[in-house]
Order: sequence, then structure tokens, then C-alpha cells
Amino acid sequence: MAALKPITIRKMLTPSTYIQGKGAIYYLGQRALPLGDKAFVIGGSTALQAAGDRVRKSLTSNGIEAVAWNDKVKECTHATINKLAEEGKHAKAHFVVGVGGGRAIDTAKAAAWKLKVPVISVGTQCASNADGSAESVVYTEDHRFLEVLSLPRNPVLVIEDTEIIAKAPPKYMVWGMGDALSCKFEGEAYAKTRALKQDGETPPATALALGDSCYRSLREHGHKAISDLKNGVHSVDVDDVIEAVKLASAMAFENTGCALAHALHNGLTKTGQVKGEHGEIVAYCTIVQMVFEKRPADEIREVVSWCDKVGLPTKLKILGEPSKAALRMATEYAADKDSNSRNMPMRMKPSDLMEAIDRVERGV
Ligand SMILES: [Zn+2]
Repeated sequence: MAALKPITIRKMLTPSTYIQGKGAIYYLGQRALPLGDKAFVIGGSTALQAAGDRVRKSLTSNGIEAVAWNDKVKECTHATINKLAEEGKHAKAHFVVGVGGGRAIDTAKAAAWKLKVPVISVGTQCASNADGSAESVVYTEDHRFLEVLSLPRNPVLVIEDTEIIAKAPPKYMVWGMGDALSCKFEGEAYAKTRALKQDGETPPATALALGDSCYRSLREHGHKAISDLKNGVHSVDVDDVIEAVKLASAMAFENTGCALAHALHNGLTKTGQVKGEHGEIVAYCTIVQMVFEKRPADEIREVVSWCDKVGLPTKLKILGEPSKAALRMATEYAADKDSNSRNMPMRMKPSDLMEAIDRVERGV
């Protein structure tokens, strides 16, 4: 008998519980109780300065001891992950609590995986949507991309205390929105590719709907949320954007896939001639993807004007002035070598990508 081949599998990865709101850290200890009474808290120094006391209080008031505490995470590297796994093993931790932004939380998730214990994420800013996902992005000490670790399970609990997140500098939310913007457009490209290839894994319609919901929320609330944060106002719009980034975009990207926008981001950053935060470069590359896909002009203009309004770059020259040779290298990498390029439904030629970049530069 021929081996069974899975066809049209629809798979949805999600964290078990997501809790967001002012003072949401209160729920940390209570919801962690079934996991044991020995926690290993991992974070960066800024994050644990902002949230450490509340994390400790929430744990201890529920009879959970922080048997290990590391507030020195600066980068998600293999060396740091291994060192933390040793610390956790020594302390006999029952579970890990990752506190902070993407780097600290990705490190905590990978260390928990090595320890074979569950992990909880506590976000302290809105630049990253890594909190709920089952993957860790590993870098070198000098922040050059190394690899993505696919972890066997998602965090069991994600806590987004909006009181803490709203106090982080507003630019973090701008960057988080830039990354979140891509999930609708990359997810749609990914779904088309899977349909064409009749691939074993088809993204669930639910994940695509989350991409739509995320984009709608960013457009409706993004600009207001940023101006509110700049004025020190914690409004419902701020909460709506936090949910769009931390929940909708995270579940959309994890259950569909990245495509041209992230492939080009990786290509551009490899040149060393493009500067900017991940979300800034991804937002710009999303516009390039839309032009490359020949999406309707109105749809492209809608994204461009939204980016302009919230302060995300819509032209490459804002991010640097890479030479022609560097651009050629970046587009060749994005078209052929980056694994995300396989998630585009049409063949990508570097010259077509160059042309799309050129068109965006001239104004769309
Ligand atoms: Zn991203």
C-alpha cells in the first residue's frame, strides 16, 4: 500500500490563553498555578525594570517562587539560550516566564524548549508580535540573522499588560504596526501559492480573516493610537492596536506565511546599506510586494497614505541609499535564495523586483 500522504491539511497554531488589559499581569500567577510553583523569569533589563516587581508580586501572591531570575538578555543567540537552559535546569524550574520585547521572549521560548517546560510570555512593548508564536529567531551577537527555530508548542499563556505597553516609547508601536501590516498581503500571496501547488498545508480561512481584521484595525485605529500615545493618553485605540499586533497579526502570520515583503527585507538588510527597524523595512517592502503583484492602484495608495500618516517609510531613500550593485544583490537574494520567496504565486525575476522598487520610488 502506498504511504499515506496528507492532503489539504488545515492547521492552526495558537497560544492556549491570551489576556490583555490594564493590570493584566495580575492574572500571571493565578493562570500559572497548574504549571508548578517554581518559575524561571527571563527578560531584558529595561523590561524587568518596568514590569519585574509586578511579575514577582503576581507569582508570589499565588505561592509561586521565582527560583531563577535573569534580566540580562540582550540578543537571542544560541549561546544565551544554552546558558539560560543550564540556569533553569540547575534551579529545577517548572516553567519559564519571558518578559520584554521580541529578543527576550524568543530567547525565553527557546530556553523553555531546551528545558522541556512550558513558557509564558509577558509583553512590555508593541514592536514585536513574537509573544504568542511557536518560533524563535536566532541571531549572532552583532544581530545578524542566523535561523528560525520552529518550536513544538506555543506559549501556554500570553499576557499583554496595556498599562506597561502604553508607557513604552510610541515608536515601538509604529514599528510593530509596520510588521503587522504585512500579514494580510503576505498571507494572501501564501494562500494563492498553496492553492496553485495543491500543497499539503492549506492556510485556514480563519488565519486569512485575522490578517484582514488586523489591517482593518491598523487603518481605523493606528494613527489615533500613535497620537494618543504621544500625548500620554491611553485610549481604546491604543488597546485596539495592541490587539491587532499582538494577537491578530501574530496568529495570521504564524498560520499563513511570509512572502516577498520579508524576503526583500532579508535581502536589503544583508547589503548593510539599508538602516531601519524590522517593522519599518517590512512596511516599505510590503508596498513593493503590492506593486510587484500588480494590485489595484487604490489598494496600494491606501497602504501608502496610511504608512505616511503613522510615520512608516514609503520610499527606499528614507531607509538608506544602497548602490545599484547592492540592490541587485538584495533582489537576487529575495527572488531566489530566501525561503519566503517560495511563498509567492508567480515567478520572481530580480529585474521585475528592481522595477517594482523603482516604481515605488517614483511614487504610486
Ligand atoms: Zn516580521
